[in-house]
Amino acid sequence: MATLDFEFRNQILGNDIGSTLAYCYQCATCSGACPVALVTEGRYNPRRLILDALLGLKEKIFGKENAFNIWGCTICDTCDEVCPQKVELTEIFTILKNISVERGEAPEHYTGQASTVLEHGKAIPSQPAIERRREQLGLPAVMPPDMDEVKKLLTATKLAEKLPKS
Ligand code: SF4
Repeated sequence: MATLDFEFRNQILGNDIGSTLAYCYQCATCSGACPVALVTEGRYNPRRLILDALLGLKEKIFGKENAFNIWGCTICDTCDEVCPQKVELTEIFTILKNISVERGEAPEHYTGQASTVLEHGKAIPSQPAIERRREQLGLPAVMPPDMDEVKKLLTATKLAEKLPKS
């Protein structure tokens, strides 16, 4: 039987945006509108994730075997738009994703992309083939990111400390 973790529940509710969790009355409008719930036939379920967070059922949310429960969210914001109670689902899922990263449970394709941003200042680094193609199409050269600025911002978020060491 799952254990209720009140400390975890209060961690979410104690956050400004997370406090909207308490408004959920489980109408399932979010799940009905969610495109990921549709294509995964309910395997990803925002309503259930909100309920598990509301009840503090930490062990149903975290753990590598449950990663899809959180990371299935693509941040399309559809759930936020349809929720009649104005629950900030996407922001609450971001809080859960951040905890998942801190627990070392985030899928590698996310942490790998974060490492690429840390190193190159963008998710898809420039490549000669892309530059050549842009030139052929008459498109302007892409300005490289200001890496000093990027590093300063990412240092403030402590991103490097949160990513798994390779
Ligand atoms: Fe809860 Fe809003 Fe989803 Fe309804 S639409 S289940 S109130 S989060």
